Amino acid sequence: MIEFEAATGIERIKSGPVERKRTGILKDPRYAGHCMGPGEPECPERLDVLNALLLEPDLSGCFKDISPRMAEKEELERVHSADYIRRLEATSGRGPVYLDEDTRTSSLSNEAAQLAAGGLCQAIEEVHAGLVDNAFALVRPPGHHAEQAAARGFCLYNNVAIAAHFAQSKLGLTRILVVDWDLHHGNGTQHCFEDDPSVLFFSTHQAFTYPHSGSLREIGKGKGKGYTVNVPLLPGFGDGDYLMIFERLLKPIALAFRPDLVLVSAGFDIHFNDPLGGMKVTPAGFAGLTRVLLDIAEQCCEGKLVMTLEGGYNLEALRDSVREVLSEMVGRRTTDIYGMMASADPKKIAYVLWRVKRMHQKYWQCLALSSTGSAPTVPSRMDRFRGTLSRWIAYFKS
Ligand SMILES: [Zn+2]
Repeated sequence: MIEFEAATGIERIKSGPVERKRTGILKDPRYAGHCMGPGEPECPERLDVLNALLLEPDLSGCFKDISPRMAEKEELERVHSADYIRRLEATSGRGPVYLDEDTRTSSLSNEAAQLAAGGLCQAIEEVHAGLVDNAFALVRPPGHHAEQAAARGFCLYNNVAIAAHFAQSKLGLTRILVVDWDLHHGNGTQHCFEDDPSVLFFSTHQAFTYPHSGSLREIGKGKGKGYTVNVPLLPGFGDGDYLMIFERLLKPIALAFRPDLVLVSAGFDIHFNDPLGGMKVTPAGFAGLTRVLLDIAEQCCEGKLVMTLEGGYNLEALRDSVREVLSEMVGRRTTDIYGMMASADPKKIAYVLWRVKRMHQKYWQCLALSSTGSAPTVPSRMDRFRGTLSRWIAYFKS
């Protein structure tokens, strides 16, 4: 059993009643205008189930509605090439256009994509102005795979990257923390900020799967070294494991970084029933992850947390998970993350923590490894051997 507190010296989250928050929900029927065709997992029904969720008696009236705006050209051009923007604009009013093997547009896709990027900017603006305490942008298409000049993996514009630039250039925020818990690595977001020390990108994702980036060794470039933190995971990680990663790695780094805003690429394809992934996170686990992020935001930036929808392709799992996240954001409950962390697989998680700390301790003093004290942070040679072997087996199977 891993001791929870000794290694990092982090305080426990105080248990007890949580203050109710004003949570904004960004939504709009025009997001349904983007449709990649029948049988596609990234479909308009994903938002239908979430809009229906908001009408349920126990959630109805709990949130402030936020309406999106279109992203301005100048905002898009901070992340994407003018040529790529023209290519997307040219799809307006046209039938299906294939942009890559997974991504195609419909006649209204460009409008939805501009509303997704602009909508996330709008949600941030309302949080920044104090109109709401935190917000969740229920947008599609998702964005974290979109590259500077290419659509990828269901993504057209990189919503989070555009919004982070907006927060810095228009709202004057200095440091942005982007947390990406989607099953898939946020390659587009990473590439946008990998040489930028003002945006810290922290990603957990399934290793050896699409988009086949996000290795532990990708730590940023130039002045941005140390500000990209990748935590690739083998399938099978659940609530306790994810919470240990968030508490033991993300939280100390985030508190040292002291962001002015926490942005989250919230993908629900790490749910145990998602058709695309192999993770085992439950709706309660998503609430726990949200609790850690709220705590970071509370300690660093008056609770300024904005989530945006990325993946998540089992409709019931998506609905149940978002319900738990929103309940946590609005302060209807506080999840006891320490109870959940006790379910982590001690040897498996110790190996993951050790690998990331070994890679990043040079940049983050708070991660310095220690083999002494009541909570040794270096796993045994046998556990390290087992961990390495598991990774090689997973690599050859992929
Ligand atoms: Zn995903």
